[in-house]
Amino acid sequence: MTDPIRPQKGIMDIALYQGGSSHVAGISDAVKLSSNENPFGPSPKAKEAFQRAVHKLHRYPSTDHAALRQAIGEVHGLDPARIICGVGSDEIIHFLCQAYAGPKDEVVFTEHGFLMYRISAMAAGARPVAVRERDRTTDVDAILAACTRNTRLVFIANPNNPTGTMIGLPEIERLAAGLPQHAILVLDGAYAEYVEGYDGGAALATERPNVVITRTFSKIYGLGGLRIGWGYGPQAIIDVLNRIRGPFNLSNAQLDVAEAAVRDQDYVARCREDNSRMRAWLAEALAEKGVPSDTSTANFILARFADEDEAAACDQFLQGQGLIVRRVSSYGLPHCLRITIGDEASCRRVAHAIGQFKGRK
Ligand SMILES: *Cc1c(COP(=O)(O)O)cnc(C)c1O
Repeated sequence: MTDPIRPQKGIMDIALYQGGSSHVAGISDAVKLSSNENPFGPSPKAKEAFQRAVHKLHRYPSTDHAALRQAIGEVHGLDPARIICGVGSDEIIHFLCQAYAGPKDEVVFTEHGFLMYRISAMAAGARPVAVRERDRTTDVDAILAACTRNTRLVFIANPNNPTGTMIGLPEIERLAAGLPQHAILVLDGAYAEYVEGYDGGAALATERPNVVITRTFSKIYGLGGLRIGWGYGPQAIIDVLNRIRGPFNLSNAQLDVAEAAVRDQDYVARCREDNSRMRAWLAEALAEKGVPSDTSTANFILARFADEDEAAACDQFLQGQGLIVRRVSSYGLPHCLRITIGDEASCRRVAHAIGQFKGRK
């Protein structure tokens, strides 16, 4: 008798990732505020690069991503040899788990952390370990206490999704210094560009042998549909990740568009300023209507309601108005709704609708 076909242990325990929805039945002009996308889309220079890429469709892309790594290195002041590019930062997270965590190993993240950490850890056969946060904020002491001799990776999104909160560099340094020697600290900087002057932990990753950062073109760069991200860290770790990276993981279009986008930092600065302005406005407008949120450093706010029922009812009400926000029960926050900062008109619409919802009760 032969054994039945079955996947590796742990894979069937993975809950399928649910993306932010983009449709409401019966409404054609719905406003999507559920996936933290840049409401203005990418830089015009990135769009031009995409159009030019049509002439290269028959050519295989570069395997070493040299031009894109060079551009990222110049813009961020980093050694291009220590940069790796991936199909979204999701792929870098996946590489890290595949390369550094396996059966009996532990991958640590925070209780309201990004779902991909758990998924990638389980895909590698490792044990996901969720550590409690303090008031929806990363708690360095709790993470350090959760580390064991089996801990291989510690993932922190800073700013965090879906809470929007972040911790300062001194706290991150304390975490990096306090981890067991066999563990890597991964700083996910998907929203780092929204924080003026924050390097996403790049300086720390330059100095320390145990810190890797990940970044993405999906958020402030407005390129979520194209799937490009990158990581930076110690040469030894980047060399390991490159061994499991598919040689043609990024297409010509992805490489060329990302390069044009990263070189247009004026566009990034304008998006950051607009986001900060509308985020402050929206947080205050909701607070006035009795819906508090923690101070967000990202391109969304986490609106808190009395309980799960109220959050669900508000979500339903917003959908009826053609406004799509994100339920975050799967992140352990059933009483909250995550609302992406859209353009000014969208922010006004969502604030007005939440005011109506609160007023009618
Ligand atoms: C959106 C997001 C990412 C980006 O993922 P990509 O694969 O680069 O699109 C990574 N981490 C966090 C915490 C995010 O919210």
